[in-house]
Amino acid sequence: MNTATTSTARGVERLVAGQPTQDGAGVKLVRVLTQDLQRRLDPFLMLDAFGTDRPDDYIAGFPDHPHRGFETVTYMLDGRMRHRDSAGHEGLLGPGGVQWMTAGRGVIHSEMPEQAEGRMEGFQLWLNLPAAEKMRDPWYRDIPSDQIPELQRPGVRTRVIAGQVDGVAGAMQREATAPLFLDLHVDAFAELQQAVPATHNAFVYVYRGTLEVGGTAVPAQRMAILANRPAADHVVLRAGEQPARAILVAGAPLNQPIVQYGPFVMNTRAEILQAIEDFQRGVLA
Ligand code: MN
Repeated sequence: MNTATTSTARGVERLVAGQPTQDGAGVKLVRVLTQDLQRRLDPFLMLDAFGTDRPDDYIAGFPDHPHRGFETVTYMLDGRMRHRDSAGHEGLLGPGGVQWMTAGRGVIHSEMPEQAEGRMEGFQLWLNLPAAEKMRDPWYRDIPSDQIPELQRPGVRTRVIAGQVDGVAGAMQREATAPLFLDLHVDAFAELQQAVPATHNAFVYVYRGTLEVGGTAVPAQRMAILANRPAADHVVLRAGEQPARAILVAGAPLNQPIVQYGPFVMNTRAEILQAIEDFQRGVLA
């Protein structure tokens, strides 16, 4: 029997700089995964990166606003944010921690800085729900930094926020989209072969240093969309003279219609109109 396997590495399809913008009551951020990439990066709907030492850039926060039809995943690198929502959940998100919120049929929540000065840095990722789960009950979990599983490979520390790496189960698992969400801390000159299912859409966002991804140098503040190729089951990451840090995000596409209106993401226009009506009537949450 021939047991040899053919394994191919993924390359980079293109680099994305994102759009500087403001959201909430005036929080400055960069929208890295914009609406025009929702199809290409299905099941991911949005990635915002924020990072600033200036309180004016974040102090206004995100006062009460609704969501329906997807999940928000907030990963803090620095700073503290307090969450409150209409389902009665409240939590304080700190450095290295994750908040995973399933909006389902609807929540109204606020995300406000719990600091008047100092650095605020992190990401918010939006993960779509399959059609059958868009109207499920809201759900919420705070995952403090010390509850995020980590593994050490030569020259690389990996924080496993979602999915699985070398038998280490991440803090979160999702069946329909099988998301992989890793924070990779790569030492100078270290190299890593990271398994990524060939059928997943995937990207790497570098937030410190420069990381070579599938042979392409990716500087900080850039997202590399990984090319999809049959049988390409891993990506090769390599740091140069300086250490680098990046998040790697991958998921199984849902291949369902995506209709977004602001904080609502459903499958049809009728469902969006219903969400707006439910919100205006106060029955969304
Ligand atoms: Mn929100």
